[in-house]
Amino acid sequence: MLFEIGQQLDQNIFPLVGNGGIVMPSEAAIPLITLGEENDHAKQPRQNRSKTRPRTRASRRKGETREQRATSAASSIICTSLQDKYIEELDAVSEAYPGTQVWQQQKGMWLLCQSALLPNIMHNATFLCAIPFDPTIRIRSWGFWNGRAWIGPRHTNMPDGSICAFEPSDGTWMPTDSIIKLLDIYTLWGVRHLYLVTFNRWPGAQVAHYAYERLTELKEDELCGCGSLKKRYGECCRPKDLKRNRIADAVKFISLGGASRKPPEAVIRFISERDNPPSIIDL
Ligand SMILES: [Zn+2]
Repeated sequence: MLFEIGQQLDQNIFPLVGNGGIVMPSEAAIPLITLGEENDHAKQPRQNRSKTRPRTRASRRKGETREQRATSAASSIICTSLQDKYIEELDAVSEAYPGTQVWQQQKGMWLLCQSALLPNIMHNATFLCAIPFDPTIRIRSWGFWNGRAWIGPRHTNMPDGSICAFEPSDGTWMPTDSIIKLLDIYTLWGVRHLYLVTFNRWPGAQVAHYAYERLTELKEDELCGCGSLKKRYGECCRPKDLKRNRIADAVKFISLGGASRKPPEAVIRFISERDNPPSIIDL
């Protein structure tokens, strides 16, 4: 199943994310464009598919439009309404991700939730999310295998090792979108890491901004870090990267903290002790 999910991601076909963070391959027989339409549920296979949330591009755009319309009226009173919106959503979050723990602070909240990734396997992913109520402060989250070992460094931010599952500016997820959608995106990131661990290559499209990062982390048969949906790194940007001044590239990448990414001490301590999470704003 994991291999099939990776093959689909290489073709830019997004798998389905169900409750508990269980990921399943997309049904190739269902045309992508119709996935996510309410009246199409009857056509989907049995096997609990009504609980799955399609993660295709078509459905994502649809969801965004609906939510943007719902929140636009309140956009001028951002901070309090964002806090209310997140808190209102918590019941739905604990239905989609059972066992989710929440710590509320004055200026934000922490979520600790678990994704199964695949049915009946030993590896799951725990996501620790720092969600500020101020939309100008970026949400940061960290992934841990079975709630312990940090998931990284591939596709994590520099230098704090937080999850980099999408470009914050590209509209994939906005602070006015749902937390469940964010957790689904993290779940997909987790399943890609599981694929990386299992098959030693990253599945699907990816963005890696630094030449040194591409040379040291990308495999030649992965889709290129320039974001190409078709070309493999070995035949796309790698020859160019090899011609650059590699020492200068390495110095730059290391000085930005790219080579030593890891979660902040306060996050590591909280994950091992599970007592009181650090202040989101201080962190
Ligand atoms: Zn390229």
